[in-house]
Amino acid sequence: MDLGISGKRALVCASSKGLGRGCAEALAAAGVELVLNARGAEALEMTAQAIRDAHGVAVTTVAADITTEAGRDEVLEAAGDLDILVTNAGGPPPGLWSDWSRADFIAALDANMLTPIALMQAVLPGMMARGWGRVVNITSQSVKSPIPALGLSNSARAGLTGFVAGTARQVAGRGVTINNLLPGIHATDRAVSLDGGVAQREGITLDEARRRREATIPVGRYGTAEEFGAACAFLCSAHAGFIVGQNVLLDGGAINATLSRQNRAGPRRAARSAPRAARRRPCPAAPGLLSRPETRLKPSDTA
Ligand code: NAP
Repeated sequence: MDLGISGKRALVCASSKGLGRGCAEALAAAGVELVLNARGAEALEMTAQAIRDAHGVAVTTVAADITTEAGRDEVLEAAGDLDILVTNAGGPPPGLWSDWSRADFIAALDANMLTPIALMQAVLPGMMARGWGRVVNITSQSVKSPIPALGLSNSARAGLTGFVAGTARQVAGRGVTINNLLPGIHATDRAVSLDGGVAQREGITLDEARRRREATIPVGRYGTAEEFGAACAFLCSAHAGFIVGQNVLLDGGAINATLSRQNRAGPRRAARSAPRAARRRPCPAAPGLLSRPETRLKPSDTA
């Protein structure tokens, strides 16, 4: 299918590897000129050259931390007028709800909520004035189904989702669409790092941690960056002008729901089925409260 976006110009943030790179590759295959960003200059330039060689499109690189104001200014200056924006950044670390400080929340909000919002605020006026634009935010399955150990991610991404829900409807009349792509588990460095944490805690190999996690996904495997990129390119295409303010889940069927999220074991059932000792373990950070066993990262968790 011709996506109808050949010659358009896109900024893909955090794109030297993983899902961001998958989006960049798919847009390049559709003939889109790219501005790519990541902090590490070497991997970024290698990715850019591979894309130039494979697809023959112009690729500009800006090595900068997209979660800082200075980094965003540098990237936006190099990007100029954009038709397409794909926002992305690294995800927050796992942990326990009672341990996160204000500084931890501010860092997560900065990276995964306020950065994409600032980027949208910078590029939307130009897109609206030109009468065409596409924005795709890479968020997480945790927006639909919270992951207890990734509460920083749950919080920041829920905030971004709320902003998009309202803003997408305000800009749609000017030819600009904003949608979110929600990755479930994909085979990237982020997944390897989360699997590594599970392997260490459970005393199992990395392969075993991955095998256990794959068993929780109906398709029986992790998603690929290529599949993710193809979905992103379609949302950025000429054919997607009627898709507005959606949260598109790419999870191989992992979240078990008909229309909206159904807990596999609702809070009461989960509490009833939890071992008595685990249910009654006091919370170290808040004596008097009981800690919940599901606050540890499980093999099926990623965001
Ligand atoms: P990844 O494979 O670790 O790749 C992350 C990319 O982002 C790299 O190119 C990295 O390059 C760049 N990056 C990270 N922080 C950056 C920053 N502050 N400024 C600029 N570039 C930055 O991660 P991924 O799996 O593609 O994940 C992408 C996003 O999707 C993350 O927010 C993650 O939490 C979320 N997600 C992923 C999964 C999954 O299964 N993979 C599932 C749910 C949600 P540098 O390190 O050189 O900057």
